[in-house]
Amino acid sequence: MNAEKIDGTYIFDESLSSYGNFFKAGKILVDITTAYQKILIMDTSDAGRIMFLDNDFNVSTIMESFYHEPMAHIPLAMVNQKENILIIGGGDFGVASHVLKHKDVRHLVMCEIDEQVVQVCRRYFPDWAGKAEGDPRFSLVIGDGIEFVKKPGNKAKFDAVIIDSTDPFSSARGLIAESFYADVKASMKPDGVLIQIGADTVIYKKLWLEMIPNIRKHFPFFYPLLVPIPFYVTGAWGLVIAGSEESSIDPARVTGEYINSIGNVKTITPDMVKGWFSLPPYFKEYISGVV
Ligand code: SAM
Repeated sequence: MNAEKIDGTYIFDESLSSYGNFFKAGKILVDITTAYQKILIMDTSDAGRIMFLDNDFNVSTIMESFYHEPMAHIPLAMVNQKENILIIGGGDFGVASHVLKHKDVRHLVMCEIDEQVVQVCRRYFPDWAGKAEGDPRFSLVIGDGIEFVKKPGNKAKFDAVIIDSTDPFSSARGLIAESFYADVKASMKPDGVLIQIGADTVIYKKLWLEMIPNIRKHFPFFYPLLVPIPFYVTGAWGLVIAGSEESSIDPARVTGEYINSIGNVKTITPDMVKGWFSLPPYFKEYISGVV
């Protein structure tokens, strides 16, 4: 995946060497390389303010709700309590800002590995960062999520774990390992719910085939969801939701009343969520060997 500046004008987010999206660059606001990744933030005339991490499209101001709302509101519909919520990754503060819309969330901790992502997002995505950091229920840990869930103080603690990471390469590689899912499970209450960014469902077949068996070993109730997310490769993106109790993971828990109670939800209706749980044959077929 390479976001390359061509003639200083176009930024390409190439998911494969033969396929990708391009964005006409407006003002480049950040172009730095940290200990973990390259961060590029730029303004565009049509696609909003965009952040690329390691040359990979991450988020833009015009599409954020398509990704952040399902990541926050679907798992929070499926937990019995909202005492302790954990986000791993999430350094742009987008998911955190949506989680905190839930007034009954007591504590939210976000464990992000790269302090420089946090710093530039405070400056260039101030709305999300302000909503999170201005809320006394929010706390930030700079560190590796893989180590964070191993800490003795984090055992049997979380009602929901939201893994909002970069694609599983470099520092995020271990976030789809079997040993990581064992530690995530141990960090959750028995009725806790996990949601994780998955992968494109059209071209990232290999990632699904690696990730699914590892999750399934620790979470008996596991569902991939097909969620349309603009600019994420082909747009036919998948998330995964999992838990240890069958009763928790039920799309019927996303009711109209629930959505209305959050307020100003832009991309989710109860019928859409039911549809996202109902997988199309092409996707079912290629994951059928591992689910
Ligand atoms: N929605 C996004 C996408 O398209 O990939 C993800 C956004 S969020 C900014 C991803 C964050 O995960 C990055 O800031 C990255 O530093 C963080 N991350 C990657 N590996 C991590 C790890 N092992 N522990 C904690 N955070 C991690």
